Amino acid sequence: MSDALPRTVEDALTHARALGVDRLDAQLLVGAVLDRPRSWLIAHDRDPLPGDTAQRIATLIARRAAGEPVAYLLGEKEFFGLTLAVNPDVLVPRPDTETLVEWALTLLPSDAPADVLDLGTGSGAIALAIRHHRARAQVSAVDASAGALQTAADNGARLNLPVRWLAGSWFAPVGGERFDLVVSNPPYIAEDDAHLPALRHEPRSALTAGPDGLDDLRTIVAQAPGHLKPGGWLLLEHGWDQADAVAQLLTDTGFHEVSHRLDLGGHRRCTGGQWPGLSPTHPGSV
Ligand code: GLN
Repeated sequence: MSDALPRTVEDALTHARALGVDRLDAQLLVGAVLDRPRSWLIAHDRDPLPGDTAQRIATLIARRAAGEPVAYLLGEKEFFGLTLAVNPDVLVPRPDTETLVEWALTLLPSDAPADVLDLGTGSGAIALAIRHHRARAQVSAVDASAGALQTAADNGARLNLPVRWLAGSWFAPVGGERFDLVVSNPPYIAEDDAHLPALRHEPRSALTAGPDGLDDLRTIVAQAPGHLKPGGWLLLEHGWDQADAVAQLLTDTGFHEVSHRLDLGGHRRCTGGQWPGLSPTHPGSV
C-alpha cells in the first residue's frame, strides 16, 4: 500500500486489492470502522472518510493482508445464527462445524431434557448453538484454556444461554458424570501439516494433535464410554481425510451405528457412534 491514507471508501478498497485482500473482507473492515452496512458503502464510495477512520481502516487492511482472520479484526463471528465474540484465545468457528451441530440437534428431542457435553468448546460455539435450539438440554462445556473458557462464558452471558463452563482437559472436569450426547471439535491437524502457516494467528493448542492429528480424537474416544449413558451418542469433527480412522477407533472401542456427515465441501467431516445399551422401546433417540 502507498504511504498515503485512503481518502474514500473506493480508495480503501483499491488499496486493499493491491495488498491481495479479498473485496468482501475489505468491505467488512471498512464497514466496521464506519459503522455502516455494505449497502451504504456501495452508495457512498466517493464520500471523504471522516476523522481518524482512514488511519484505522488502513491499519485493519494491513493486518488482514498479513493474515489475521477477519473475525479477530472484527472481534466477532456468526455461527449457526448466533453472533459470537472471538479473539486469539479461541479458534474462529467454521461453517463446516455447523454440520456437527445439525447432527446433534437431530439426536436431541425438543420436548425432553438431555445431558449434553461439548469438549474443547473454544468460543462456546457448539455448546451455545445446541442450547439455543434445545432449551431443555442441560449443556456442559469444557476447555483447557482459561482464556477460551472466559470467552465462551462471556458469550453465554451476553446471549443469555445458560451453559455450565468447566476448566480442564477433556473429561477430567466431569468426574463420573454420564451424558446423553458428547460432541467435540478437537484439534485434529498433524503437527507438520502444510496448512499450519495459514492458521498461525489461531491458537496452536486448538489446532494440532500429534504426528497424525489423531492424538486428541484417540483420547476422547477411549474415555467416552465412561461418560455416556446407555444409548448415548459421541459425535466428532475431524480432518477431511480422517473419517475412516475415526470410524475404526469408534468401532474398536465398541460403538455401534457408526456413520459420517459431510461438510460444505462434500468431505466426511464428522463421524459418530452410539454407545450400546439403549432400551429397545426408544430406538434412535437419546
Ligand atoms: N477445521 C479447522 C481448519 O482446518 C481446524 C479445526 C480443528 O483443528 N479442530 O482450519
